[in-house]
Amino acid sequence: METPLYHLLDDERDNRIFIKRDDLIPISFGGNKARKALYFYREIDRDGYDCVVTYGTSSSNHCRVIANLARGRGLPCYIIGPQEVSAPTANSRMMELFGARITLCPVDEVHDRIEQTLEQLRREGKRPYFIQGGGHGNLGTQAYVDCYAEIRQFEKQNGIFFSQIFLASGTGTTQAGLVCGALLEAAPRRIVGISIARPNPRGRAVVVQSVEDYLREQGAFPGRDAVEQRVVFLDDYIGSGYATDAADVGRTIREVLERYGIPMDPVYVGKAFSGMKQQIAREGLTGENILFLHTGGTPLFFDYLNRN
Ligand SMILES: *Cc1c(COP(=O)(O)O)cnc(C)c1O
Repeated sequence: METPLYHLLDDERDNRIFIKRDDLIPISFGGNKARKALYFYREIDRDGYDCVVTYGTSSSNHCRVIANLARGRGLPCYIIGPQEVSAPTANSRMMELFGARITLCPVDEVHDRIEQTLEQLRREGKRPYFIQGGGHGNLGTQAYVDCYAEIRQFEKQNGIFFSQIFLASGTGTTQAGLVCGALLEAAPRRIVGISIARPNPRGRAVVVQSVEDYLREQGAFPGRDAVEQRVVFLDDYIGSGYATDAADVGRTIREVLERYGIPMDPVYVGKAFSGMKQQIAREGLTGENILFLHTGGTPLFFDYLNRN
C-alpha cells in the first residue's frame, strides 16, 4: 500500500525534511494500524476465520481499524479494554458504530479476560483470530519491513538517501519493521523512535525484542549486539505520557496544520514531530536528508480539537 512521500520543508539548519504520509492509507482513517491491519485481514480472509479478538483502550487507533474491517466483512469483533475514566473519543464512538463487542475490566485482568473470550468462542465452535494490542508481533513488523522497501524505492527513483528516519514509537512494531529493513540491507542510517509513553530501558528493550523475533523467524538474526546498535529509542520527549498536551506539541500541531495542511495528534505524531525538531537541534544535525514517518492518529486530532 504505497503512501505519498514528499519534501516538506528545509529547516533553519539546512536539513531537508521529507514526510511519508501513512496517515493517508485509504481505509478507516489510515495510519500505521491500518497498514498492519491489511496484513491481519489477508490471513483472516485466506484462512476462513469467523470472528476477531483484540484489545486496546477507548482511544485506540488499532481497535477502531480492526473493528471497521471486521464490520465490513460481517465478522463479530470482540474488544477487551481496561476500565478507564475517560470521556468517549472519536475512536470509541466508531468502535460502537461498527458494533464491536466491548468488554471492560480492571487492567490487570485484561490478559485472563482475553483467554476466557477465546476459550468461550472456541467452545461455541467458532474460529477466532487473535490480534495483539497495537498489531504487535511479526506480521505487524512485516508491514513495516514492506514500508521500508517503499522508502528504498523512493530513494532509488529520486537519487536521495535518508540518513535519519524519525517516527513515533509505542509498542515498537512500526520502528522494529523499519530497523529490520535497514539491518537486512546494511544501510548506514539511523531509525529514531521517539517514545510516546514508555521510558527506557524497557521501551527500547521491547523494540529490540521485536526486531530479534522477526529476524529469527526470517533466519537472518545477526546477534544481539548488531540489533542493539541499531535501535535508537528516545524517551526524552514523553512529557506526562499518553495524556500529554505540552505547549510545544500544541504549537507544533497548529503550525504544521496551518502551514502544510497536515493534521497531527498530540499523543503520537505531534509529539514525535516536535521531538524530532528538538533532537535535530540537540545533535546539531546540518545538511542531512531526514524522513519523518506520519503514523496516523487522525481521529485523535479531532478529540484534541474538541478539547482545545
Ligand atoms: C500505535 C501508533 C503509533 C505507534 O506504533 P507502534 O507500532 O505501536 O510503535 C504511532 N502513531 C500512531 C498514530 C499510532 O496509532
